Amino acid sequence: MTAPSRPSTRSPRRPFRRRTLAWALTAAVWSTAAAAQPSGTLQVTLLGTGNPRPSLERFGPSILVEAGARRVLIDAGRGATQRLFEIAGRDALVGLDAVFLTHLHSDHVVGLPDLWLTSWVFGRARALELIGPPGTADMASHLEQAYQWDITARSKDEGFPLEGVRLAARDVQPGVVYERDGMKVTAFAVDHGGVLVPAYGFRVDFQGRSVAFSGDTRFFEPLVEHARGVDVLVHEVISPEVELRRTQVQGARAIDAIIAHHATPEQAGTIFSKVKPRLAVYSHIVPSPTTAEDLIGPTRRTWTGPLAVGYDLMTIVIGDTIEVHPRKVQSDK
Ligand SMILES: [Zn+2]
Ligand SMILES: [Zn+2]
Repeated sequence: MTAPSRPSTRSPRRPFRRRTLAWALTAAVWSTAAAAQPSGTLQVTLLGTGNPRPSLERFGPSILVEAGARRVLIDAGRGATQRLFEIAGRDALVGLDAVFLTHLHSDHVVGLPDLWLTSWVFGRARALELIGPPGTADMASHLEQAYQWDITARSKDEGFPLEGVRLAARDVQPGVVYERDGMKVTAFAVDHGGVLVPAYGFRVDFQGRSVAFSGDTRFFEPLVEHARGVDVLVHEVISPEVELRRTQVQGARAIDAIIAHHATPEQAGTIFSKVKPRLAVYSHIVPSPTTAEDLIGPTRRTWTGPLAVGYDLMTIVIGDTIEVHPRKVQSDK
């Protein structure tokens, strides 16, 4: 099996530094609800960089965004709960403020019941906000029905508060969908192809720093306007060559459809070259065995700036400099 990809640090224009933050700093951020990160710092951690493939090296798509006291997820794919627990234990689950869904493909939501219910078992006392395209609120109410036995049993048996297992779900239209404590989240429509509508990308702004997430999209030029001026652009990617060799999906029709629904490295590079972020990042890498080498060469045909090929638990600290390092995990979890 291929080892997890490490980031390319080829950075001819604006280099970023790579170093490991002291664990003490990270722990302090999580352990005190009121604790803020260094002023103006926005931090992004790729919890899962994969897709439906049940890979141990690339969990399902999920990205943690930390901005001051706010902690939110973009998508909740398979393993999001395990990754959060690795990072900061119970606090990471109970302290999560909201989950934003790019779209309702199963690989982006299949980790949600685990996250939602396990955080309740561990002490969540307030509702979990769930924000996504039309269909999100329906899905939430069906999840509450599906898990009704557990919800009723645990509230009676263990006395857990029902408010802590409520999903405060909202369907949203493109535009500003969240503004709390200086963190602003803007949703925008992307083009996931064919019948896969609606599908969103998100932009997060915090104290003059910004990051945009493409969500699942094929080449979509309007994304350039939505991501204009961001420090970091996280884009999905597919390697058609590797997909044709390594996919587990059966049938030419399905494989063709998958390739058509995503952006090639050359196409993502074209978007990067128009947005010109301080750092371009790949996540939601299809198929999961795709290596950094598979992606960097084709990307360099269209984008020569700073590029990191995401791996699970890659953290990007966005400040005056942009630092990329593996997130420290708690080994006793
Ligand atoms: Zn996907
Ligand atoms: Zn999708």
